[in-house]
Amino acid sequence: MSDKRQLISAEGAQTPLFVGVDLGATNIKVGVVDDLGRPVSWLSVPTKVEKGPDDTTRRMGQAVKSAIAEANLQLSDIARVGLGSPGPMDIPSGILLKPANLKNEGEDAWNRFPIRDRLAEECGLPVAFVNDADAAAYGEYWVGSGRDYDSMVLFTLGTGIGCGIIVAEKLISGAHSHGAECGHIIIDQNDDARMCGCGKTGHLEAYASALAVIARTKELLALGRETSLSMRIAEGVKLTPKLIAEEADGGDQLSLEIVMDTARHMGVGVVSLMHTIDPDCVMLGGAMTFGGSKSELGRRFLARIKEEVQARAFPELAQRTIIDFATLGGDAGFIGSAGIARLQHGAAK
Ligand SMILES: [Zn+2]
Repeated sequence: MSDKRQLISAEGAQTPLFVGVDLGATNIKVGVVDDLGRPVSWLSVPTKVEKGPDDTTRRMGQAVKSAIAEANLQLSDIARVGLGSPGPMDIPSGILLKPANLKNEGEDAWNRFPIRDRLAEECGLPVAFVNDADAAAYGEYWVGSGRDYDSMVLFTLGTGIGCGIIVAEKLISGAHSHGAECGHIIIDQNDDARMCGCGKTGHLEAYASALAVIARTKELLALGRETSLSMRIAEGVKLTPKLIAEEADGGDQLSLEIVMDTARHMGVGVVSLMHTIDPDCVMLGGAMTFGGSKSELGRRFLARIKEEVQARAFPELAQRTIIDFATLGGDAGFIGSAGIARLQHGAAK
């Protein structure tokens, strides 16, 4: 999506200007964004987490400067930087807390790394610090699928499940920076509930994330169910949600069942959010939306979620809450991080 997003010129941009940074496990996406949420430039650099937080932060600072230069702007043209980072984190202190799958001991540990202030030093600008899922949610709320609404929940479906909640322009980040961790709401309280990536059982992410979809598929394959997936895997194709979507599109019953079951699990999670927040809308973004609104499978996935919502939510809510796909794609993170920087600069939606 990013390659298609229209960039505006620095001359046409509405000041003040911000830089949004979306720190991912593989890539860092950085862009200059104007006061109306329009990207002026963007670029992506590898994260290289194995080189440690100092190295990553140094390259992140360089990427910020490059994005500013690419937009034909100077450092002094930028009001503030927004940094969206994977959690867990301590937002007031600007530090990361034991990031999953990263080195957390020794000299180059990520745990307790003061990433906000170190980035501010590297790029010479004040930095606003935000959870990456919250940043994506704010981006959608500001200029994407949620722009016409007052309150919104965004689920980001990928390797894990991220979530962000905004009510009346305020991100629900919580008393301990762990608010809106709705990938970890419980949808199965039974003893044999699935294990989540966080180490606890029964969480939504353990059923409806990309990793969960692959795990559930492997279990069904082990039962010997007939499916065209077996042939594709035998050909050496890697088992991914994308492959499952392709086979479902091609008429494979098991693949379709897996996609629809994923929707059913998501529907259960969505209902809990509707009964907690009663938002105007619940949006679904991320890499694992089975093609989204552009594909027949994506539309069936969404319809199945709504069916589950109809069956389980208060009728008034089931009828009135908008449930749809997000629209900013992979740009939501950096645009939203810039949006949070803009909020801290004193602006409103
Ligand atoms: Zn969990």
